[in-house]
Amino acid sequence: FESEISTAIENRDFCAFFQPQLNGNGEVTGAEALIRWIHPTKGMIPPDEFISIAEQFGLIQSLQDIVLEDICKLLMELERTSSIPADFKLSINISHSQFRASNFKQSLESTIEQFGIAASRVTLEITESMLSHDIAKTAQQMAEISDTGFSFSIDDFGTGYSNLSNLHAFPVHELKIDKSFVDRMLDPSGLSIVETIINLAKNLNMKVVAEGVESDKQATLLKERGIDVLQGYHFAKPLPFDEYLKWHSAHLAQR
Ligand code: C2E
Ligand code: CA
Ligand code: CA
Repeated sequence: FESEISTAIENRDFCAFFQPQLNGNGEVTGAEALIRWIHPTKGMIPPDEFISIAEQFGLIQSLQDIVLEDICKLLMELERTSSIPADFKLSINISHSQFRASNFKQSLESTIEQFGIAASRVTLEITESMLSHDIAKTAQQMAEISDTGFSFSIDDFGTGYSNLSNLHAFPVHELKIDKSFVDRMLDPSGLSIVETIINLAKNLNMKVVAEGVESDKQATLLKERGIDVLQGYHFAKPLPFDEYLKWHSAHLAQR
């Protein structure tokens, strides 16, 4: 499988798909880039089946570079066609080993500079567990990256037992409420967890995103509770580059 991944990298069988993110008024505020392996015979292979293997065998950097290049290409295209809202951002998922790599900041910067993209257009999604060791050093590294204009988002928030008292020590701009909580929102206990995370984010001056929104009912409840951003199949599935562009311009035109 490892050598298949290497071959697929050489053959450019990987690419990013993009899932729209919308604010409470239904305006598009960004998109999350999600990697896809388009296998010539097996069809589409989901990331859960290859990310950890790629990470184990030191191939994750190449995959991450593909995603980063794809988001730069998308931002260039949106800028070229002047269809980019002022605060529009693209999010990318950062793996453990990449976050720990000594050249993390340089590799991010060199790619976006090459494409002439502003760091302020890019959000880095990390997980709570990445913040759990060597707090002072991690906070320092994140501050340096944040100073260059990138934003940080905590993905799957609420599933990782993060030390809440440390949260403010890190330059975090956004919390993403995990899909498992959104799924359970129609029960009172599930709803109270979602409300608690929304309030926590507001108190810490962070933006709060709900992921995996699949129904109108969930979207309405989330908006009533003051969610900033919504993402999920209810609005759109992750879309290939060209389909995302079509969705984006149709969405802008319809408003
Ligand atoms: P994630 O970052 O939590 O991404 C959200 C996942 O939920 C995505 O699965 C997305 O397609 C799916 N999703 C979005 N809306 C809905 C919905 O309404 N209902 C349902 N059932 N699912 C929804 P995907 O694309 O298969 O990605 C799985 C995981 O793989 C991601 O979870 C992320 O941890 C990882 N991943 C994806 N792309 C990358 C990447 O470029 N780099 C790294 N390091 N990890 C990635
Ligand atoms: Ca994510
Ligand atoms: Ca997530």
